[in-house]
Amino acid sequence: MEDGRPVCSTEFRCVGCGYDLSGSTVGGSCPECGKPIGESLRARQDGAKSCGQATACMVVGILSLTVCALAGPVAIWLYANSKKEMAVGGYSRGSHTMAKAGLSMGIISMALLGLMILWAILGEAV
Ligand SMILES: [Zn+2]
Repeated sequence: MEDGRPVCSTEFRCVGCGYDLSGSTVGGSCPECGKPIGESLRARQDGAKSCGQATACMVVGILSLTVCALAGPVAIWLYANSKKEMAVGGYSRGSHTMAKAGLSMGIISMALLGLMILWAILGEAV
């Protein structure tokens, strides 16, 4: 691991305090608690835990798009929960990706639902 190399990650947090280390360099240390960034990086690599809420978020997100748009708000709620859970760090990149995918699908399904409601209202009015 070369020192000074930027950590390329959108979601990367200190294992000590949860401070967002995005854009920090591998050789540096956490500006909040002083823990070496390399330590957080290792913890993230070995202990890449998966977050159940993030998985659920993606599943519900898919359901909201395919089965029932009413699942959209649930996907958004699960995203908020998983974000809180994963804020401590040590979670796999896959979990973050799944949570974000679930959120996007939840938002899309909500937007589609909104359009359908609008369409129904306008249809009634004509
Ligand atoms: Zn820290």
